[in-house]
Amino acid sequence: MVGIQPAAQVTSWLVTGRVLFLTIHLLGVLCFFYIVAMRMVPLLRGERDFRFDRPFVRLGRVLKFWLGQWKQPRYKLAGTIHIFIFAGFIVLAIRAFSVLIVGVSENFVMPGLSGRAGPIYDIITDYAATIVFLCMVIAVIRRLVFKPARYAVPARYGKAHTADAVFLLALIALLMVADSLFAGVKAAAQLQSGHPAEMLAAFSLPWILRNALVSTPLPVLGALFFGAYLVHELTFYFLLCYRPFGIQFHVETSLFNIYFAKLDREILKPVRWGVSDEHLDQVKSFGVKTFEDFTWKHMLDFYSCADCGRCSDNCPANAAGRPLSPRFITIKARDYSFRHYPVLGRANNGAALIGSKDSGGIYSEDEIWSCTTCGACEAECPLLVEYIDKIVDLRRGMVDDGNVPQSLQKPLKALESRGNPYGKMEKKKADWANAKEFQQTCRVKTLDQRNGADTLYFVDSITSYDDRMQAIGRATAKILNHVGENFGILGAAEKDSGHEVRRFGEETLFMALRDHNVDAIKASGVRRIVTADPHAYNALKHDYKDVPPVEHISQVIATEVKAGKIKFNPVENENNVYTYHDPCYLGRHNQIYDDPRNVLDAIPGLKRVEMTRSRDRSFCCGGGGLMLFYEPKEEQRMGVKRVQMAAEAGANVMVTACPFCMVNIEDAIKVAGLEGKMTAIDLAELVDQHIVRDVLA
Ligand code: SF4
Ligand code: SF4
Repeated sequence: MVGIQPAAQVTSWLVTGRVLFLTIHLLGVLCFFYIVAMRMVPLLRGERDFRFDRPFVRLGRVLKFWLGQWKQPRYKLAGTIHIFIFAGFIVLAIRAFSVLIVGVSENFVMPGLSGRAGPIYDIITDYAATIVFLCMVIAVIRRLVFKPARYAVPARYGKAHTADAVFLLALIALLMVADSLFAGVKAAAQLQSGHPAEMLAAFSLPWILRNALVSTPLPVLGALFFGAYLVHELTFYFLLCYRPFGIQFHVETSLFNIYFAKLDREILKPVRWGVSDEHLDQVKSFGVKTFEDFTWKHMLDFYSCADCGRCSDNCPANAAGRPLSPRFITIKARDYSFRHYPVLGRANNGAALIGSKDSGGIYSEDEIWSCTTCGACEAECPLLVEYIDKIVDLRRGMVDDGNVPQSLQKPLKALESRGNPYGKMEKKKADWANAKEFQQTCRVKTLDQRNGADTLYFVDSITSYDDRMQAIGRATAKILNHVGENFGILGAAEKDSGHEVRRFGEETLFMALRDHNVDAIKASGVRRIVTADPHAYNALKHDYKDVPPVEHISQVIATEVKAGKIKFNPVENENNVYTYHDPCYLGRHNQIYDDPRNVLDAIPGLKRVEMTRSRDRSFCCGGGGLMLFYEPKEEQRMGVKRVQMAAEAGANVMVTACPFCMVNIEDAIKVAGLEGKMTAIDLAELVDQHIVRDVLA
């Protein structure tokens, strides 16, 4: 090297650089692999999880969500910073590797970079190091000065994570400075010696440092060169070995987490992977009770969380002040794993996860019951961390132990004995269709051996028995009738779809309801199913097997509008401004966003505005997961927040396409004091009101 000694040749404390750096490399690599091996121990003890299918689909998702950072721009500033840091790391990976080897073999050049490609790559990496450094500075300022609310740690979840985050950001910044100093000093020494200097990217950190040091005496440059190299090495390995102790572990695990992420998100995890329903009676215990009951992939999720807070920022339960924050479901489990599976020392495991801190628990019962399984957390997480399956598994564990909230015991008993959570008589199931006035406009047949039909209208419990929701049932039937559908209902033979029961964790009760309904549907001989209830839709589509294809009524209407079978009269009240609230089990869980909107837009004169939180960022009304029967502790009702969002968007009519949403929204309008200013209507009701009846005549 010109003017200064290569780091490998410097002798200090009677040790040559080569020996010193080789020792650092070996120790660093050994430590890293040992720590990672210890981190894998709980995964090896975890439950099975089948994540090895469809490798090409999985690779495609790695390209999209890991390499392409697909979800990052959902938060513009933080997302952009992350993309720059990630891209910088990818670009710098080869340079970091080369720099490490140079400490042992000073003339090493990465294969492929000895020719013209070398200087070009160097220029790119100069900028990459500079950008990463600047991103670190911005990130530290954001953390310390602007303090985004989603990074805050409520007192009940422990200490703030700011110090740890800033420490890690500072370490990465130090690594970038050391890397740039190494390159800048080398170029400054070359200039001083009158030799052609390596080209540095203009205005990059190495370029700035070179210009600042160009008149520094060569011996000082030599010391700086060695020092920069040593700092780079120590920081690199310290970071490598420190990351598995905290949130930065996601740097190592994220690629695997995304590769093994759940492909069929809409399908709930089975009680035990590899155990069929018929053999479930051989499973000793259902659900997750101890940490080791989580699957290995769910444990990998815990390691992969970047603590960005996006899940909780979008969680309606968290927003309503319920004792649930998905981010801390993960962080608490990760900390539990670190505590019980230490890097040094014996693993001590087996404590129940639900319970007080004193008894070793990390979750409270209320926390786990507070989730509506809306899926907002999963839709937002850039690392595809899963929540619903874990929460349902924790509930399965509680139900298995007979640990069920008081208010839910009655509806569950009623579901068991009567097939509906209200405890109403089966023979009253079709009463909604027998109202005299309704029968004059539309006759709904009950399917049996004598009365067959092409299409089954699956009504489900809430629409069958709730006085208000029966109007949705009647509107749906009238629409099907209008388009000439040969349809019928199961009447007393239909039991609750079991959708909520399953998400509540009562798997055996769900299986009983499902099996009964599947038999009844098969016996009816129908070729397709229509429902106006997104929960029933989701159950029939994803939780049931061997039933005819199912459509939500909004899909049917959208198709018929397109085909010209449904035409609309204009809206009468021109002052009405409509907004569509996406039900979670229609939108996020089944990606039906456009059909309901297309239907609304087909009604002449209908003014529609979009709420800020819409489509896959829709805000749950609070009604899912048997929540109609469970009063969680909360500061403000989710539904109230939702109607306030509608009012802020300038709407005075909320349209939804789910009876559960309707219950919550109508109730929330009253609680929010918006009666007379805001109304709610189901899409089927709105369509029924505006349909031009004589089109088919
Ligand atoms: S599914 Fe919904 S309610 Fe449950 S943790 Fe996720 S965002 Fe919160
Ligand atoms: S689970 Fe995902 S969204 Fe939530 S804090 Fe972790 S990385 Fe962020």
